[in-house]
Amino acid sequence: MKNNHLIFKKIIKKEIPAKIIYEDKLITAFEDIKPKAPVHILIIPNIFIETSNEINKKNKYIFSHMFYIAIKIAKKKKISQDGYKIILNCNKNGGQEINYLHIHLLGGKKLKALY
Ligand code: 5GP
Repeated sequence: MKNNHLIFKKIIKKEIPAKIIYEDKLITAFEDIKPKAPVHILIIPNIFIETSNEINKKNKYIFSHMFYIAIKIAKKKKISQDGYKIILNCNKNGGQEINYLHIHLLGGKKLKALY
């Protein structure tokens, strides 16, 4: 996998610009630079976790918080009634491009089913 996790680290530190729409002690949420839907937001932990394979007993509270906030954002963006997708890509077969754990919140249009 590419060594590109610094991009997301710099977004958290506000060293490179991003449309941050939510942040707290644990996580940061910002708009995807190449949106695949009218709403396309990435939610990431503030501490560096490379992939979902690094989720463990100690840090799983951050992971659940990422999903909790993704759903809160979906409600705030008024896409929850029509529906949305939350996607997590892991490593090469999962299509993970940025090696910093993130989930995608997508909505605002009818999204294709994967299966
Ligand atoms: P992945 O394929 O790793 O699950 O998704 C990575 C996502 O990060 C892609 O949707 C891509 O558009 C987004 N992305 C990559 N670089 C940047 C950036 O510099 N800023 C923002 N806001 N999003 C980025």
